[in-house]
Amino acid sequence: MKRDLGRLETDEFDLLIIGGGIYGAATARCAALHGLKVGLIEKTDFSCATSSNSLKIIHGGLRYLQHGDFRRMRRSIRARRTLLRIAPHLVDPLKFVIPTYGHFLTGKEVMALALAANNLVSWDRNRSTVPSKYIPAGRVISRRECLDYLPNIEKNGLTGGAIWYDCIARNTERLTLEFILAAVQHGAAAANYVMAESFILNGSVVRGVKAKDLITNQTFKIHSKVVINATGPWINNLLHLLSQSDGLSVDWAKSVNVILKKPLFGDYAVGLFGQGSYKDKDAILSSGKRLIFCVPWRKGTIIGTTYKRYIGDPKNCHIEEQDVFDLLNQINIAYPTAKLSSEDVSFFHVGLVPIAAKTNMHQNSIQLMKRSRIYDHERMDARKGLITLNGVKYTTATELAKDALNLVFAKLHRRPPVEPHESLLPGGETTSNISDFGALSKRSGHLIGMHTLKHLRDNYGSRYKMILELVEKDPELGGLIAKEHPIIKAEVIHAVREEMAQTISDLVMRRTNLGSFGDPGKTAITSCAEIMGHELGWDARRQQLEIDSLQNIFKLPPSLNSPH
Ligand SMILES: Cc1cc2nc3c(=O)[nH]c(=O)nc-3n(C[C@H](O)[C@H](O)[C@H](O)COP(=O)(O)OP(=O)(O)OC[C@H]3O[C@@H](n4cnc5c(N)ncnc54)[C@H](O)[C@@H]3O)c2cc1C
Repeated sequence: MKRDLGRLETDEFDLLIIGGGIYGAATARCAALHGLKVGLIEKTDFSCATSSNSLKIIHGGLRYLQHGDFRRMRRSIRARRTLLRIAPHLVDPLKFVIPTYGHFLTGKEVMALALAANNLVSWDRNRSTVPSKYIPAGRVISRRECLDYLPNIEKNGLTGGAIWYDCIARNTERLTLEFILAAVQHGAAAANYVMAESFILNGSVVRGVKAKDLITNQTFKIHSKVVINATGPWINNLLHLLSQSDGLSVDWAKSVNVILKKPLFGDYAVGLFGQGSYKDKDAILSSGKRLIFCVPWRKGTIIGTTYKRYIGDPKNCHIEEQDVFDLLNQINIAYPTAKLSSEDVSFFHVGLVPIAAKTNMHQNSIQLMKRSRIYDHERMDARKGLITLNGVKYTTATELAKDALNLVFAKLHRRPPVEPHESLLPGGETTSNISDFGALSKRSGHLIGMHTLKHLRDNYGSRYKMILELVEKDPELGGLIAKEHPIIKAEVIHAVREEMAQTISDLVMRRTNLGSFGDPGKTAITSCAEIMGHELGWDARRQQLEIDSLQNIFKLPPSLNSPH
């Protein structure tokens, strides 16, 4: 996959998508798969914004039961099943445990009812799924079993617990990238580091955008019959480029996760009741508290998510010391044995999610937007040819993509597909048989250890073969970039040649997974800069600039200890 600036400049597209987060990527794939001529531009790198900041849970919508919102539950269940099916190499079932207290809204009886209803509503959750990815039914557990899972939880009033299953997308950055790869395989033209700067208008009809290639600083026009604004937290900014467009303005909440260096529990996620009261004004039944989740991830735990009202330019949204302490405190109060301090912090996620209009400014009362929305500007403010997508969850992007596709087909006066079809993502044809990897290891001259082969399979699925081919041609590329990481040199070459990595941050944060747990250390970064620099013709100064800008990403707020 290459930056396809030539076609972006010369072709006329059926659909141009602005924004390469999960919503833009899923829509591009869906449209290309159904025969539309698609262009996609992303101003930084694919999945560099909200879509890389996720808690990584692929929700089946259990919590929407409190709103009696079965439609939203069904969409989540379908979306979760789709991701399990098309990306088996990146999505896995994950067990969740929460303790129950007393006999009312946080009690075991209410949870038993909720889980029974959830099992019923998700009756087809495993349809067309391979058995190794089955999602078991949820159940309540005894006090004793709960203490086996959460040995040091508050025992006063503990009546038992609840277990249910959702999924985890271990690498949301690569999952988003695979949607872009799939779109390109089906004929789309895509490029990162291309920013939409203004709209091309024919009267009130949007006919494309004027864009800037941020690598060469060249500006050019992209023509399209329909344009989708999938810019996440930037949707207001993009619409401001249209003078007189006053129809839509979305408010945002800063959302934060903290990544801990250590595991907190076992290989299951745990929900703990956060401090302070929280009133979900749309809930029929509510425990009055937000759940904070502890998700086992790589060698540590992601904890989150907290929300605060955010006003300002999305590019200035950053983590603050208080955000981190708030989360650590919430866990320490709910689970004192954790004894979390700033020394346990390895990294963080910070991003913006949409909130419901007229939300209260008080932190605990933030009402998140509940449903993803599609805005048809032809109906809203008479701008023909423009659609805005506002997604609320990573999970449901494939569902909104299908709805968006129907609208695009209607605008093109074409008949939409009767039943949108799904096919595996490019790395999805993976085998779970590790002995195949043994054979491959032999093929690659035993240069690659099992640990690295497993890492390649877990991140690239069936596309790991492309990396092994590089090693076969040049065994030197089978070497590790640094002894403490399973990443090999061939991955750097692959990211540049096949996956549009343009900067060292693209490589370290979104292609190899090297930096998603925090600073991977000087040796690994220098090695990546040298290999990438050689591939892209960077001089020593450019390599150093790349390293400096990457290291800025790992900086924690000043009073927190450096992770290394
Ligand atoms: C801390 C946190 C935890 C979360 N946890 C979960 C979870 O566990 N499960 C879940 O399902 N969801 C979760 N979410 C929500 C989920 O991450 C988002 O709903 C989703 O990623 C939004 O994707 P998007 O494509 O709309 O936006 P983004 O991913 O932000 O993509 C928008 C893209 O548009 C680009 N762009 C902007 N302006 C322009 C322009 N002018 N030209 C070209 N490109 C432009 C941006 O650079 C950006 O890459 C979480 C969110 C946060 C912040």
